[in-house]
Amino acid sequence: MSEQQRGQVPYAQLGRQVQELEQTVATLQQLQAEREEFIAYVVHELRTPITFLAGYAELLLANEFGPLNDSQREALQALFDKAEALIHLISRLLAWQDIRARALDATPVQIEEIVSLAVRSAKAVAQQHNIKLSMQVDNPPLPPVLADPDRVGQILDNLLSNALKYSPGGGEIIVHLAREEDAIRCSVSDQGIGIPPKALKHIFDRFYRVGGTPAHGVPGLGLGLTIVREIVNAHGGHIGAESTLGKGSTFYFTLPLASQPSAQFSTTHPAQSAAEESL
Ligand code: ATP
Ligand code: MG
Repeated sequence: MSEQQRGQVPYAQLGRQVQELEQTVATLQQLQAEREEFIAYVVHELRTPITFLAGYAELLLANEFGPLNDSQREALQALFDKAEALIHLISRLLAWQDIRARALDATPVQIEEIVSLAVRSAKAVAQQHNIKLSMQVDNPPLPPVLADPDRVGQILDNLLSNALKYSPGGGEIIVHLAREEDAIRCSVSDQGIGIPPKALKHIFDRFYRVGGTPAHGVPGLGLGLTIVREIVNAHGGHIGAESTLGKGSTFYFTLPLASQPSAQFSTTHPAQSAAEESL
C-alpha cells in the first residue's frame, strides 16, 4: 500500500506545503515592514504642521497679536490643548517606532547620572503640582551598568511622567537606586491614585489604560509603559509594579552590571522580542 493509500501526506507534497508557508510568512513580513514604514512616515510628517499650529496658538494666547476677548481665548485654549494632545500622541508613536527600528547602543554607564538628569528635568513640573521629588542612592557610588543611556533616560522620563500625572493630590515621589546581586534596581514610588489589583497585570500591555480612555481624565495613549518594558527587556533586565489603590504605586526595573559576563542584550531590535507586535 502506498503512503497516499494509507492516508498519509506524501513527503514531496509536505515539502511543497512547507515552501508555500515560508513564502506566505515572507510576504506577510514584507507587508508588515511596509505598513510600519508608512505609519512612521505619516506620523513624522504630521509632527511639523501640528507643532506649528500649537506654536501659533500659544503666541495668540500670550496676546502677541493683540488682546483677546474671553470667547476668543477660550476657543484658542481648546485649539492649543488639542494640538498639544496630538503632539504627545505623535511623540509616543515615534518613540514606539524608534525602539522597533533602532538597536541598542550599549556602553558602561553610571546610572546615577542618568537618573539625576531625569529627576532634575522633572523638578519644575513636580513643583507646579506640589509634589516633592527626590532621589536616593544606597551605598554610592554604584558600579556601572551596561546600557544605552538614551533609552534609560526614556525609561525614567516615562516612569516619572506617570508618577506625576497620576498623583493629582500631590505627595512625594522617590526614585531609589540600589545594587541587587548582579544588577542595579531602580524604583519610582509615588503616593498617587494607585492601580486596582485586577488592572495591575495589564498595565504594560499596548494601549492599555486603567478605566479606559482617558484614564481618570488624564491624557495619554497607553503606550508609555509598553515602551518602558521593551527597553528593559532588550537590556536583559526585569520590570514590575506594585500598587495599592488610593495609596500609591512603585514601578521598578533592573539593569545588569557592566562587569557581569552574562550581561547581554537581545541581538534583535527591542520590540521584536515581544512576539513581533505591531501598531
Ligand atoms: P502615555 O502613552 O502617554 O504614557 P499613559 O500614561 O496612559 O499614556 P502608560 O504610561 O502606558 O500610558 O500607563 C498605562 C496606564 O497605567 C495608565 O493609563 C494608568 O491608568 C496606569 N498607570 C501608569 N502609571 C501609573 C501610576 N504611577 N499611578 C497610577 N496609575 C498608573
Ligand atoms: Mg504614561
